[in-house]
Parts: sequence; C-alpha cells; structure tokens
Amino acid sequence: MRTITRVKAAPHGHWVGDGFPVRSLLSHAADAEAISPFLLLDHAGPHVFAPALRPRGVGQHPHRGFETVTIVYSGEVAHKDSTGAGGVIGPGDVQWMTAAAGIVHEEFHSEAFTKTGGNLEMVQLWVNLPAKDKDAAAGYQTLLDAEIPRVPLAEDSGTVRVIAGEFAGAQGPARTFTPIEIWDVRLNPGKHSAFDVPDGHNVIVVMLAGTVEVNGSEIIRSGQVAFLSANGGEFTLEANGDAKLLILAGEPIDEPVVAHGPFVMNTVAEIRQAMVDYQDGRFGAIAV
Ligand code: MN
Repeated sequence: MRTITRVKAAPHGHWVGDGFPVRSLLSHAADAEAISPFLLLDHAGPHVFAPALRPRGVGQHPHRGFETVTIVYSGEVAHKDSTGAGGVIGPGDVQWMTAAAGIVHEEFHSEAFTKTGGNLEMVQLWVNLPAKDKDAAAGYQTLLDAEIPRVPLAEDSGTVRVIAGEFAGAQGPARTFTPIEIWDVRLNPGKHSAFDVPDGHNVIVVMLAGTVEVNGSEIIRSGQVAFLSANGGEFTLEANGDAKLLILAGEPIDEPVVAHGPFVMNTVAEIRQAMVDYQDGRFGAIAV
C-alpha cells in the first residue's frame, strides 16, 4: 500500500492581484522534490465578491518554462494571452496554458461575474516542463466540463473527473509533456475508495473541502495536503462528510528548479535570459 510520508498544514492566505484570495497549498520553494513535476498550487476562495463595475484580477504578466492549469469550481474567469488565445471558463471548466518559451497573459473575473458578483472558487496549478521542452511553443487548451470524463466510483462512493492521465479506463483530455494524473474527486461519506497510479509517480492528495481518512489510519482536513510514497500500489480514501479533493500524480522531473516570480528554469543564467527576453518584447503582446 502507498503510505503517507508527510502531511502539510493548511497555510495562511494572501491575495493574487485584487481578484484571487488564495492559499498556496503546494510550493516548490518548500517541497520541490516531493511535488515534482508540479511546482505550485493556489486554492482561490471560496470567496463571495460583491457586484463591481471593473473586473478584478491580475493584469498583463509573463511566464516562461512551465504550464499553468486553472480549474474553476465556482464563478467565471476570463483569460487573454499573447498567442491570441482567450475566453471565459466557468464551473467545471479547465484552462491548460503552456507558457514554455514565453507567454504574456492576463487573468480577470469575467464581465458577467463582475456585474452579478457571487462565489468564486478555483485552483491554479503550475506544472513544470523538462529542460528539453522549456523552449516549446506557447499554447492554450480549453478543456470544457463536458469534455472531461466523469467516472462514478463503486457503491455510490463518489465521482472522479479525469482531467489528465487515465482512471478506470477513462482518459483525461489534457495533452501533457510528461506522464501526469490530475483527478478532481468528490467523495460521499462513509465509503472506501481505492486509487492507484503508475509506480514511481509522486502522489499528492490536496484537500479542498471536507475531511478524509487515508488508508484507514490518517486524517487529512480541508486546506491540508498529504504526500504519499512513490511506490506501493493502491491507497484508499474514506470521507466522513462530503469531500472535495484533487489527486495529483506524476513522474518526477529530476532536474534543478530555479524559479524567480513568473519564470521557472533550470539555471540562474536562464532566469536572467528570461528577464532580458521579456523586457525586449520577445514574449509577444496581448492583442488589443
Ligand atoms: Mn499568470
């Protein structure tokens, strides 16, 4: 059985721009090896916004060397980037943005959500790229809720939305550079469910709401994260109420992580180059 190697306490929150009150549940700064190939996970909200005249969010900024994956649970987020891609995503939708060689984007509440206000909840996950793919072309995948397979768990114990990787024969729609599983899981109380991922993959259980017992022994609660051993086969989860969580897994990228703000590279020289290239306008611009 895969066992828990560590449970991380729920961190304090901070704001990203004026639109996203987040808790950083995963960070490469603290746990680079344990969370590879992932770099960061911010859980925004749930937070109720009053109606407003001007969309809240984060204005134009660059990224290089990795991918950002935004999963919306409640509310609506609008995106625009220098590849010309953009759009509005709502509950259940996922935006998979490949920054790679360089992108400039902005992230705001949608016009409609701004006008009505309401509850916003989303996750932004950063996925690292191996050195050989850090200069790949920037790109953008919209994964609508309707395209994401929903697998019911045995005995009405819950559902798994397969965003990336394979679960119980269902393949997630995300195109990834390295082997990754991203499963958006809801559990009903009082039932055991078993999960497995390929040997050698780091496994992280991210609790967004509720409480679960892992392997019939250790309890993890909302805002906490459990790191599981990379081998050992299945692990089980049992919720004691309605629970919402992410299971993240992937083959670790065994390369140095050198990060500076929106850039994640392998060396300090590459970070300096990213700054120069961005200042010289080589990441492109958002079309007006
Ligand atoms: Mn960004």
